[in-house]
Amino acid sequence: MKIDPEKCIACLECVDFCPMKCIAEQDDVVSIDQDECVDCGVCLHAGVCPTDALYMPEESMQYPRAIRAQFSDPGVWHPSTNQGGRGTEEMKTNDVTGRFRRGEYGMALEFGRPGTGARMSDLEKVLQALIRMDVELEHDNAVFAFLEEPLTGKVKPEFRNEKVLSAILEFKIREEQLEEIVRQLRPVLAEVDTVVSWGLASRFAEDGTLPVRARLEALGVPTRPNAKINMGMGRPIVEP
Ligand code: SF4
Ligand code: SF4
Repeated sequence: MKIDPEKCIACLECVDFCPMKCIAEQDDVVSIDQDECVDCGVCLHAGVCPTDALYMPEESMQYPRAIRAQFSDPGVWHPSTNQGGRGTEEMKTNDVTGRFRRGEYGMALEFGRPGTGARMSDLEKVLQALIRMDVELEHDNAVFAFLEEPLTGKVKPEFRNEKVLSAILEFKIREEQLEEIVRQLRPVLAEVDTVVSWGLASRFAEDGTLPVRARLEALGVPTRPNAKINMGMGRPIVEP
């Protein structure tokens, strides 16, 4: 996103709408830090600019920068997955996709939420660690379109410094791998230069309990259970 200096009257109405806090005034001139801006379009869509000074420049639609809007503006779709937002169906569709069976846990690592953003180099670091751990990655994910070497998780050099509002990596593990995966992932996540939310999808046991909670608590990992209730709109595409 850019600001047309000929039109801007420095009213600062747009500043508070930016989740990246990258709109700033200096010497009576308001501008956007292009390295920090993720092209989410929130400032523009808010419709607060009295002079229509905000605009999306041509270079925001061209690679490598185009990756920013694809991951940050839900109205811009990913060409590789034909989906908006972060470009993957995510674990919340499990009642339809049945990706996570009994004896398995689904895991999701959400980078950059809320309001922090993430560089592709951060994702690369974690993705490479996951590949070394030999977990089963969800490949139907827009992130994979920007890899140089899918087998090693190496991101194409031109995309490595691109910043997005949020991106997600999903994978599944066998239940017995839980402790080892947590032990290996923790130090990798500590090195990442953004916030990462770690989600785990588990089926309830036959008695209605969630045994995974006790295992996580024993590892010193606090849990905050939540559920998404599907009202039966989706038809399962796999047999139970
Ligand atoms: S496009 Fe998004 S990140 Fe960029 S200046 Fe506007 S609100 Fe901030
Ligand atoms: S709202 Fe428009 S005129 Fe006001 S500071 Fe932002 S870009 Fe400039």
